[in-house]
Amino acid sequence: MTRVPSDLPLRCRCGHVGGVASGVAPSEGLRFICYCKDCQAFARFLDRPDVLDTAGGTDIFQMPVGRVKVTAGTDAVRCLHFSDMVFRWYTECCRTPIGNTAGPRFPVVGVIHSFMCHDADGRTRDEALGAPRCRLFEGSAVGPLPPNAPEPPSLRLFPLRISRLLSWWMRGLGRPNPFFDAHTNAPLSAPRVFTPSERAALNE
Ligand SMILES: [Zn+2]
Ligand SMILES: [Zn+2]
Repeated sequence: MTRVPSDLPLRCRCGHVGGVASGVAPSEGLRFICYCKDCQAFARFLDRPDVLDTAGGTDIFQMPVGRVKVTAGTDAVRCLHFSDMVFRWYTECCRTPIGNTAGPRFPVVGVIHSFMCHDADGRTRDEALGAPRCRLFEGSAVGPLPPNAPEPPSLRLFPLRISRLLSWWMRGLGRPNPFFDAHTNAPLSAPRVFTPSERAALNE
């Protein structure tokens, strides 16, 4: 099993939006399954139940945002806010979730599995990214967790996450940020905001 960092193609379901994640390796990111209500609402808004596992979990790989490039179809990239803190990016063409970021200065993107293309390099998702490290917000799961669900976060994971964030930031890996204008910091697409009733309708 190869663990050297490598490039991973990124692609929406229809192929209009594409890009590349470079330097991808288990040691260069953190993979987890998120069962939070907002991640579930995101998949529901996009009408993409296939993105969620049987308990409503989303498979996410957090990595330095400066290592992600969107090279095709940027005209179809959209975003939405369920909270001011989180920009949830997706494609308009085929409603594929891309990933989640914070603001323009935060060096991390959580790339959603649906935008990663593992066919090309012959490695499985587990080989490329490592197995998921933990599950988050399982209290919001909509059913019994799948038998292969990862453990809840251990106490060791928190300092590991902080040290990776700091190292990405110190190494300048938060830039360039493909989702925000380098000069104005404006998001690539104005975030769609939901009224409380629109948002409530997205939860079961
Ligand atoms: Zn598409
Ligand atoms: Zn979530």
